[in-house]
Amino acid sequence: MQKELTELDKKVYKYVLSKGKEGIPQNVLWKELKITSRDASRVLKKLEMLGYVKREPIIYGGRRTYRVIAIPKPIETKKKPSMPIIDFRKYFDIPCMVCPNIDKCYQGGYFDPTTCDLLTEWIQIEISRKKAKT
Ligand code: SF4
Repeated sequence: MQKELTELDKKVYKYVLSKGKEGIPQNVLWKELKITSRDASRVLKKLEMLGYVKREPIIYGGRRTYRVIAIPKPIETKKKPSMPIIDFRKYFDIPCMVCPNIDKCYQGGYFDPTTCDLLTEWIQIEISRKKAKT
């Protein structure tokens, strides 16, 4: 079961919450929200499992149903993963950025980054710069 609340789940939860401690009969709820009884049942089962509502069996209008009562709690929202910040400016002076052979350069090829003098020199300069800063 998906733990994240859908928009419908939130709508139903907020509606039940608005009914206070008295709650609302389930067979009234779906009619008032203009959703199907099946959707209401599915959503309420989920909300109950996640601790947002409790349901008590009752007889309402001569039919067996549940009284749905909200359990006040904050609606959990999924946090978006934060994107790592990469500063590309420091890579602009890599010789590969302007190398005419970059399309033909690969490990084991004629142009090979593991044996390239330009790249090796650039790496050595970068290492020297880093050491100078520390
Ligand atoms: S490793 Fe050397 S040859 Fe390969 S793309 Fe970079 S600068 Fe060019």
